[in-house]
Amino acid sequence: MVFKLKDSVNQRVEHRYDHFTKLYIKREDKIHPIISGNKYRKLKYNITFIKSQGYSTLLTFGGAFSNHIAATAEAGKVYGIKTIGIIRGEELQTKIEENDTLNYAQSCGMHFKFISRANYREKNSISFIKSLKKEFGLFYTLPEGGTNEHAIKGCEEILTEADKEFDYICCPVGTGGTVAGLINCSKPSQQVFGFSALKDDFLQEDISKFVTKNNWKLNLNYHFGGYAKVNEDLIRFINKFKKEQSIQLDPVYTGKMMYGIYDLIEQSFFKKGSKILAIHTGGLQGIKGMNKLLVKKGLHVLK
Ligand SMILES: *Cc1c(COP(=O)(O)O)cnc(C)c1O
Repeated sequence: MVFKLKDSVNQRVEHRYDHFTKLYIKREDKIHPIISGNKYRKLKYNITFIKSQGYSTLLTFGGAFSNHIAATAEAGKVYGIKTIGIIRGEELQTKIEENDTLNYAQSCGMHFKFISRANYREKNSISFIKSLKKEFGLFYTLPEGGTNEHAIKGCEEILTEADKEFDYICCPVGTGGTVAGLINCSKPSQQVFGFSALKDDFLQEDISKFVTKNNWKLNLNYHFGGYAKVNEDLIRFINKFKKEQSIQLDPVYTGKMMYGIYDLIEQSFFKKGSKILAIHTGGLQGIKGMNKLLVKKGLHVLK
């Protein structure tokens, strides 16, 4: 990979709930400004595979603020791979200019196809893929969120040998690829907690398919109503966290996870004296778009 990457370091996070539980955050958000955090990890071996197989085009799927779409477009630009984004929501077709994520992806050369929400639900069907092949010719398909075997292999590199000192590894969950990689590279003595960013009954099953251990749990208590749903409480938490820790969290994934971790520490959920490592999976490119929505709704914005 030719990306210029910065190191991801573990940074101590202060919390005032008890003096015994130590919380650290792994700054995966720092490794690259666009292909940040887990999206770099998920693309790494996919790009290697695409190159080795001689594909010239990559097709993938995502929504209006998708970090995956932004990261894939950037990776395509860097590696000279044509990228096609199948985007959820036909109404976005005329709103590319005002959507920072899509605007950015387009500037990287991504070609879009906008489809309705109903069609998007059927995006993996054989007939739809067939129609895409007819329209675009030969391409490599990367599933929504970039999750596949290659992605999980990349995410197995997030934890280092030094991280074995942690009792708990916490991570936000969208499609489950990142947490699956973390589970696979965790020590059996460690507990891995995935914090779901969405309401989804199949996640547990999806993750199970990819993992080799059972030292993990999926927490469904902090999705705030579903994917990209936020409330004032969450926005306030993220802004306060930034002020106190000088760390920006995103409202879709890492903000919800950290809210959950603080809440669980307060409830003495974690063993006394334990060390927790939370993964900052990035996603900061989506903040501008979220703020536009918050302004429209007359709510407080992310500072
Ligand atoms: C995509 C994303 C996730 C979810 O990762 P999955 O592997 O799909 O579970 C978490 N955090 C951020 C910031 C993301 O962009």
